[in-house]
Amino acid sequence: MSYRAAFRCIAGCAGEHPLLEPIYRCPACGNLLEVAHDLDALGRRAAGSWMRLFDDRYKRTTWPYGSAVWGKKEWVCPLVEDDNIVSMDEGGTNLFWAERFGRELDLAELWVKLCGNSHTGSFKDLGMTVLVSVVRQMIRDGREIRAVACASTGDTSASLAAYAAAGGIPAIVILPRGKVSTAQLVQPLANGATVLALDTDFDGCMAIVKQLATEEGIYLANSMNSLRLEGQKTVSIEIVQQFDWEVPDVVVIPGGNLGNVSALGAGFDMMERLGLITRRPRIVVAQAEAANPLYLAYRNEWRFEPIAAKPTQASAIQIGNPVSVEKAVRALRRYNGIVEQASEPELADAVALADRTGMFNCPHTGVALAVLMKLRARGEIGGSERVVVISTASGLKFTDFKRAYHEGRLPAVASAHANLPLDLPNDYDAVRRAVDSVADR
Ligand SMILES: *Cc1c(COP(=O)(O)O)cnc(C)c1O
Repeated sequence: MSYRAAFRCIAGCAGEHPLLEPIYRCPACGNLLEVAHDLDALGRRAAGSWMRLFDDRYKRTTWPYGSAVWGKKEWVCPLVEDDNIVSMDEGGTNLFWAERFGRELDLAELWVKLCGNSHTGSFKDLGMTVLVSVVRQMIRDGREIRAVACASTGDTSASLAAYAAAGGIPAIVILPRGKVSTAQLVQPLANGATVLALDTDFDGCMAIVKQLATEEGIYLANSMNSLRLEGQKTVSIEIVQQFDWEVPDVVVIPGGNLGNVSALGAGFDMMERLGLITRRPRIVVAQAEAANPLYLAYRNEWRFEPIAAKPTQASAIQIGNPVSVEKAVRALRRYNGIVEQASEPELADAVALADRTGMFNCPHTGVALAVLMKLRARGEIGGSERVVVISTASGLKFTDFKRAYHEGRLPAVASAHANLPLDLPNDYDAVRRAVDSVADR
């Protein structure tokens, strides 16, 4: 059985466009596109049979289905030939039961989906494998593509560089100079991408890469290319699968460019439409107070105005003019959405507090955890609800931030949960006194 999928305008303009065309916006109205699947054809297979198929493939060895993205290939991007897929075993990440941290919030069922435990250390790999695989299909079909390019706050460039390198495709990444962490800068350099560090912010980089895509025959790898969202949407399917096909009550996700909250909704939509689930979770978007245009819109009957984003430790979501805002609002309306924000001290303390219960969080996950703490304190999330927090990147990419927190060097942050090494002489008694103080704590 082969399944069809094509681009369609999100505003409802007539017509479809092939996924193997370099097209990012509706030629009629200029709005974003989305991937439309042939749901009637997919619906001819029973829900239970899809669940069994996805379970049978999960983390197994038959190429390419062991990747939890490509294990759902029929729902993601059916037209790519298996030989052209560029996969590095995406998804299948730990759904961590945050028992101790949950208890501190009087929340028995807190789960943290560790999407950062991935090839390049962020959840961007889920979508990048789809985009780069489609590019390789296009190249092998004879289309001329000079390179793939993205503007990035860090993780997109790391992911694009790695997948392009694995697929043998030249990559160009455009970063705001001085605004990404050392690890995020080193990743695309190591993978051989051409890295252009511009003296602007993310929104400025985005304007330039869009022009390259229209004028220079460069394929655009930002999330306005909705192929990436097809991979990202598998996270909702995977979470439900990891609960033995039960839907959680609340999902909290940090939001910047807002492609991922849209993708989250799209995954639940598809499961509902094809009968795998019969209820919807509530979706919460967590924004940094320094870059909060969606939060402001939420407080203003969804009337959206772009803003100039201010610096935040959650650098991947320092975006003032999110490209997928319309898609995100549509998803939030369907999913009884909440948008809440977290300040720099709130996000930093949430990271440190949760780390003390065994996690190792990035600042974006800190935004989500801080927002969860607020909603729980206000009673907007009940103590018996099953809550999933999407952890978007590995804390190992943000060691500068963690070190600065513990050394008390983060601007405007009091570091209430700092923990520093004790410098001691080479002296047994001094060590014993230090050990006693820990043991008695
Ligand atoms: C990209 C990213 C986000 C935000 O995703 P959007 O789709 O841009 O809203 C959050 N956290 C991390 C670590 C990211 O890389």
